[in-house]
Amino acid sequence: MTSLRLLHSWLRANEPGPIALIAAGEPELVAEKKIPAVLLGTPLADVPSHELLEALGLGATIVYLHGDPGPLGSLMAILEGAGIERIRLGTAAVKPRESFGVDDVPHSRRDLFGLGRSDLPLPDESLLPEDRERLALRGVVDAEGVDPAVFADVPSHGLILRTSGCTACGVCVKACPTDALELSHLETGPDRRITTLAVYDSQCIGCRKCVDLCPVNAFTVAGPTSWETRLGDSSRRPLETIPTVKCERCKTFFPMREGGTLCATCRATRENPFGIRWPEGVPKPPGARF
Ligand code: SF4
Ligand code: SF4
Repeated sequence: MTSLRLLHSWLRANEPGPIALIAAGEPELVAEKKIPAVLLGTPLADVPSHELLEALGLGATIVYLHGDPGPLGSLMAILEGAGIERIRLGTAAVKPRESFGVDDVPHSRRDLFGLGRSDLPLPDESLLPEDRERLALRGVVDAEGVDPAVFADVPSHGLILRTSGCTACGVCVKACPTDALELSHLETGPDRRITTLAVYDSQCIGCRKCVDLCPVNAFTVAGPTSWETRLGDSSRRPLETIPTVKCERCKTFFPMREGGTLCATCRATRENPFGIRWPEGVPKPPGARF
């Protein structure tokens, strides 16, 4: 993967303006406008898509000269179709005023003296790439006044999740790297609750940890979310409501539909005090040792 980190600092320190990103193996350049160019030295598809979008957010005009822009292609085509003139896909009409490799982008004097344009923070490298991609695209869409609805039919990497048979164990909530899942509780009595599992669709990055780790296989995936959803507000979508009751032995809450006064673990322990066999038909809760 080719990183654009140095280019980001350079862009931030300079006034916004056009710049060309030239992928490897391009045809002879045709003079149209003399602008600075960064020679990637690799195919465009080998550059992380969030870094390309971040470069746009930092003021670059990206001129794709050739080649497959990879997963970012459909997004870029839509931005271009929405009239963002800073983006030109497949254009070979540029003659570099100056050019530099992606690893030797010059330090800007303004940057050296700490005079970078402070209103444009550098991308937060501690975030997940998928989060950086969403933030960067959101920034471009907002800056250009594009209606996110133009992305209604463009699939993102997020997933449309559904659940059935959730036991409110919380494993998926703990496993989700973006806090896209939430369990909330409404007390309806001293030992009773209504628990709701909900998802923030715009935050899901499609890692499938929840799907893979759910001990009762409660999740199904109804397809990818659209980029319109990913760019939207963080509204909460309830997945399932589970009436629960407190286990009289260990005091954890378990689904009322399982019946009785003991949770599955305590029931199994009582039925099998030596812990050698799990009762048939009872889903194993997380942490069960047998
Ligand atoms: S891991 Fe499965 S059972 Fe546990 S809260 Fe999530 S969906 Fe429900
Ligand atoms: S797929 Fe990943 S990001 Fe999406 S809700 Fe599940 S754990 Fe969270």
